Amino acid sequence: MLEIQDLKVTHGPIEAVHGIALTVAEGACVTLLGPNGAGKTSTLSAITGTARSTGLIRLAGTDISRLPVEARAKRGIAISPEGRRIFSNLTVRENLVMGAAGRRDKSAIGSDIRGWFEQFPILGERRDQPAGTLSGGEQQMLAIARALMSRPRILLLDEPSLGLAPQITARIFDIIGDLKRQGITILLVEQNATAAIELSDYVYVLNNGLISSEGPAERYGDGSALMDQITGVH
Ligand code: ATP
Repeated sequence: MLEIQDLKVTHGPIEAVHGIALTVAEGACVTLLGPNGAGKTSTLSAITGTARSTGLIRLAGTDISRLPVEARAKRGIAISPEGRRIFSNLTVRENLVMGAAGRRDKSAIGSDIRGWFEQFPILGERRDQPAGTLSGGEQQMLAIARALMSRPRILLLDEPSLGLAPQITARIFDIIGDLKRQGITILLVEQNATAAIELSDYVYVLNNGLISSEGPAERYGDGSALMDQITGVH
């Protein structure tokens, strides 16, 4: 579904990613692990089109690397960004409507929203509340549901467990597992190696802008060796 070759990402004079390759097959959950500053968010920004990059980014067979952000979204890229960035003053429902902004099939938006309220009942209960009044975990659920409102081909998740209590983190990983079982293609960026590996098919480890290790998730066991690598760098 997504194929990246020789991707370099720059922020002004700084090159954050130095030429990486990665692939996400249709229906797979692939995790990009790595310490702070490794270039994980930069990689996602290059895919969505918000960071400058060179190299190939192919989505469902088409090179999208030169397209502007909105065109990539229309072709099926959606992200739940780091820090969630929900619209705090808008209601839960309005946030979901915003997620569907680029869609042509307006008539199906209402039923999709009802579907997400069934999947995340707590969001349904709070549909008319300003999203800023939700807890961190609820805001993360909303950010994921909002991204999925565009009916993307691939869902990018940037550190969905960041800042959440362990129990809430477990719930968010359960949700990601459910989405995978529903056939949604996922590229997950995480620092929580153990939880991410458990639901992933394939893992890439990014260090200083380069892939230092990759392989099927089973190869990394329970992820504890990777956890040491990732946290040891801090
Ligand atoms: P984190 O978990 O902290 O978000 P990360 O792996 O996602 O880490 P990036 O945010 O991609 O890493 O950052 C990679 C490198 O690029 C870092 O050295 C960072 O300082 C730099 N960088 C990221 N964004 C910018 C920016 N907008 N301007 C300048 N440098 C940046």
